[in-house]
This record gives sequence, structure tokens and C-alpha cells, in this order.
Amino acid sequence: MIRLKHRQPNCSKLPRLRFYYPLGKTISLEDRSHKICLIGAGTSGLAAARHFSSANIPFDCLERESDLGGNWNIDLPCSRIFESTHLVSSKTLTEYSDHPMPEEWAEFPHQSLILGYINSYADRFKLRDHIEFDCGVHEVRRYDQGGWLVTLETGEQRLYSKLIIANGHNWDYHIPNHPGEFHGEILHSGHYKRPDILRNKRVLVVGGGNSGCDIAVESSHNASFTALSLRRGYHVIPKFFHGTPIDVCGNRLHWARMPLWLRRFLSKIVFFFLLGTRAGTGLPKPDHKLFESHPTVTSQLYYSLRHGDLTIRPDIDELCGDKVRFVDGTEEAFDMIIYATGYHLSFPFMDAKELNWDAERPNFHLNIFHPKQDDLFIIGMIQPDSGQWGLVDRQAKLVARYLQSLDQQTEAGSRFQERKQAGARQEPINYIRSKRHKVQVEYYSYRLELEREIRKLEKQLSKESLSKTSPASPAKASLSHA
Ligand SMILES: Cc1cc2nc3c(=O)[nH]c(=O)nc-3n(C[C@H](O)[C@H](O)[C@H](O)COP(=O)(O)OP(=O)(O)OC[C@H]3O[C@@H](n4cnc5c(N)ncnc54)[C@H](O)[C@@H]3O)c2cc1C
Repeated sequence: MIRLKHRQPNCSKLPRLRFYYPLGKTISLEDRSHKICLIGAGTSGLAAARHFSSANIPFDCLERESDLGGNWNIDLPCSRIFESTHLVSSKTLTEYSDHPMPEEWAEFPHQSLILGYINSYADRFKLRDHIEFDCGVHEVRRYDQGGWLVTLETGEQRLYSKLIIANGHNWDYHIPNHPGEFHGEILHSGHYKRPDILRNKRVLVVGGGNSGCDIAVESSHNASFTALSLRRGYHVIPKFFHGTPIDVCGNRLHWARMPLWLRRFLSKIVFFFLLGTRAGTGLPKPDHKLFESHPTVTSQLYYSLRHGDLTIRPDIDELCGDKVRFVDGTEEAFDMIIYATGYHLSFPFMDAKELNWDAERPNFHLNIFHPKQDDLFIIGMIQPDSGQWGLVDRQAKLVARYLQSLDQQTEAGSRFQERKQAGARQEPINYIRSKRHKVQVEYYSYRLELEREIRKLEKQLSKESLSKTSPASPAKASLSHA
């Protein structure tokens, strides 16, 4: 059997170290090196908490906000959803694998139901006991003698053995740097909450992703004039086919092992009959093939365009006071610009060199595992072409199984370690190279790969370590928050 290089911090002699801050204040270092530090209690952090707690892996979950749910808790400063947000991915392909959403819920539930669902998940698996709220992580660095030195925003310092990052990637606003000055209001889609701010205004929404199109449609019902500025053409995908969510249909084509060309061919025919052509809508022709970019899923965009409530404009060339000049030379007056231009992938609390960063993202095996280190993991660093939580659920389970495999020194664990050290990783298959796709994964193949890896590791783990099963109570019974 290959021996694993499993580095444990040598902290046994450091129950409580003392550090001296320049101001003469003594800061004590609390030794929690028997535990893992998990940053974030959004949907990704909660999945990690659920699987670590089931696997009896000791951890603390540190959350900056006063409540859980991250992006889906609209009252929290870190949330980037708006009042009318519904899931854009179907509930069946979004939900956690062992915590279904109620059958009677609509296919694309409203965000208020989603927060109830997330709370019911935390309650069912008793995750709150592990979370420290109002506990922002300011800095994380490697400790000389092994482990991670975690400095909280309060200045408190703790030593942990391992680090799981689940800080999300939809919070650090990206706003393009257009030349000139705009005298109206500028906001990012993450600031946008409700349509009352749009009334009687001329609004320009920038960006053709899901948030951009949803806000543009909402604006088209509320503002006096709405334009959507697009840098390139996008393939717009309807939300349903014959009453079935479109991602569920797409998943069935994957399941039937249909080659890409055939999936593309069939989908194009279906979209043509459901939406028609772009003619008369002003939408530019995409410069890439269908399924080569993250899908923009909306059934309402064409509707608003064809009612004349929404107008398409090209990319912005310059901001000119009250007006905006577009690259086709036309100028138009606006009161407000909403940039739905995405987010940076950010880990502000740690040095980029720790993250094996390539040009655009941490280069982690399966977007989860540091290739060389066994004490650093990221959960939730993916953008699937469908729902996310079922995937992060499997990511978290795989990390838990890997840590158990290291602990029990199994051969399957060694082989997984070799694979990750070799640098194999999940590529965004078929997608055009663009910043937008830096953490893109294809739902179906990525899920299969995670499940395959979990099975391989579980085969050699002791029965006792797998025996702690999930509570039997159905999700429905505990959805009282909804
Ligand atoms: C408008 C919108 C619509 C979306 N729709 C869908 C959809 O339909 N389906 C889907 O699957 N996904 C959707 N997403 C993606 C969505 O972000 C994910 O579903 C999911 O919420 C991400 O969860 P997360 O836990 O990874 O990140 P977050 O929800 O961002 O949670 C991260 C948590 O980490 C905490 N944190 C961050 N830094 C620190 C720190 N230094 N110290 C302590 N705590 C910290 C934050 O406070 C936060 O609670 C949508 C996103 C947006 C913006």
C-alpha cells in the first residue's frame, strides 16, 4: 500500500500562544488544530457542514453575516438576488441530493421559498450548532509549524489544521471601465432589489446573462424606456419545453448519451419552434455555437422585445454626461445604468500564491482540490449549466470521503491523491474561452465524475465511517421557514 503524505500540524505544544501586536495589545492564539476551518455558511458552506458533521470530521464554520443562506438571504449585505428572483435552474436539478424540495412547489420557486428550504436543510442536519455568525475571516496564512493561522475581523487568532473555502463567487462586482463620465445613477445588478427605483426612468441594462435579461424584462414593465446593451450575441434558451424545465430536458439528452452535434441539432429545432427567429428583435447573431457558452435561460425576453417594451443596443463606446454613446455611433439619454456584468472570483483573505492561481482562477483538481496540498479545498467554485447545490453537495461529500480515506490510509485515497497531484482537472467542455466561463462546468458530466470518485473512495472505507446516515425525516416536514 502506498503511504500517504498526510501532514498534521505540530501544535501539540501550543495550546495557547501569545502574540504581541505593535500597539502593545496581546493577542492570544487559540489552538483549534484538531478542527477544520470552514469559511462561509451559504449553500456551499452548509453542504460542507452537513457532510463533515455526518462523517464526524470536527470543524468550525465561520460566517461573516448574522444569518445563513448567503446569496439567497435577501436581507443580508452579501446577497445579490432581487425581490422577484426565482431559480433559473429547475428545482430537481438544483436541490441537495438528499433534501428534496416539496413536490407541490413550482419548478422554479421564488427566492423566499428557497431561503426557507435552505433553513430547513440547516435545521434537519443540525448545522447551526457548528456555525459562528458575525465571525468574518480577515486573513488566513500558513502557520510555520503546519496548519492555518486564521485571523478574524475582531483580531482574534486561531490555529486550524485545514481550510475549506466556501466564500462564494457572486459578490465581488465587476463593472467595465468605460471611458467618460455618466451623470445619472450607476448600479450593479447585485445592488438592484426592487422595481420602484426604475419608475419613470430611462434605464440601460448592460449584459446578456440571466440577471441582465431578467432585470431588463422587469424594467421593461416599470421604467419609461428600457434598453439592453449587448457586447455580443447570446443563445437565448426558453425555460420550458412542453411544460418540462429545459435543463431537465437537456439532462435527458445527456443521459441518452447523445453526441453534442445531435443535442445541438435537436435543441435548435425545439428553440426555433418555441421562440422563433431573432428577426425583428434586434438581438445580434451569436458568434459561437449553441452550448458553447453559459446558457441565458428566459422565456420572457422575446416577449418584451416583441411587444416593443424593450430595445436592444450594442456595446457602450463612451459615457457622455446624460447620454451614452454606443459603438455604432448612436447616442441616447439615460437616467440609470444597471451593469449586469458579473463578478470577480475573489479570495481577499489569502495570498494568491497559496491558491495555485492561473490566469483566471485557482487551478484546483475538479475545481475543489489543491493539486499538491491536502489541507486546502474550495467548495462551490463552479458555474454549472444547471443547478448548483446538488453538485456542491457531492463536492463536499467527496472532500469528506477523501479526508476519511487519508485518515484510514486506503489505497483508493492514495490513487485519488496521485490523480490530483498529476494536475488532472475538469475542463469546461465545449465552451468558448472567456472570463465568463472561468469556473464553468457541464452539470451532467461533472456530477457523474464526482459520483464516480465518491464511489471509488467509499469502497475502501470502513463500514463504521460510512454508517452515520442522514435523518429520515422528509424535507417537506421541516420546511416551516418557507
Ligand atoms: C441573481 C442570481 C441568481 C442565481 N440563480 C441561481 C439558480 O437559479 N440556480 C443555482 O444553482 N444558482 C444560482 N445562482 C448562483 C448562486 O450564487 C448559488 O446558487 C449559491 O447561492 C452560491 O452559494 P455559495 O455558498 O457558494 O456562495 P454565497 O451564497 O455567496 O455564500 C458565501 C458565504 O460566505 C460568507 N463569507 C464570504 N467571505 C467570508 C469571510 N471572509 N469570512 C466569513 N464569511 C465569509 C458570506 O457572508 C456568505 O454567507 C444565482 C446567483 C445570482 C447572483
